[in-house]
Amino acid sequence: MSCTDDSCAVVTRRERWREELVKLTPRMLWGSLASVYRRCGHPGCHCATGEKHGPVFYLSRREAGRTRMVYVPTELRDEAEAGVEAFRRYRELGIEIAEANARALGLGRQRRR
Ligand SMILES: [Zn+2]
Repeated sequence: MSCTDDSCAVVTRRERWREELVKLTPRMLWGSLASVYRRCGHPGCHCATGEKHGPVFYLSRREAGRTRMVYVPTELRDEAEAGVEAFRRYRELGIEIAEANARALGLGRQRRR
């Protein structure tokens, strides 16, 4: 498109946001990916003195003031990481869109105090 006027730019920007949201929403996952290493508790095990078992992966998030850990099987680790990144981007886009909406309503001017 060769449109350069302002309203047209807004339309294409909103179109791009929509396209990106359509790609993000089916993948996004809530939380951050945590790698956990553990000692199993058997006194004779190598982990008692040396290298711990793991990593085991979890999606970790704060919910109503408590940390919730959701187990992620190793084979889904990459997908979980991509999901976390997708949700991060989704939130970022949400702020960008909300700011543009505020500007469109003429709410851009700030009062300093
Ligand atoms: Zn062990």
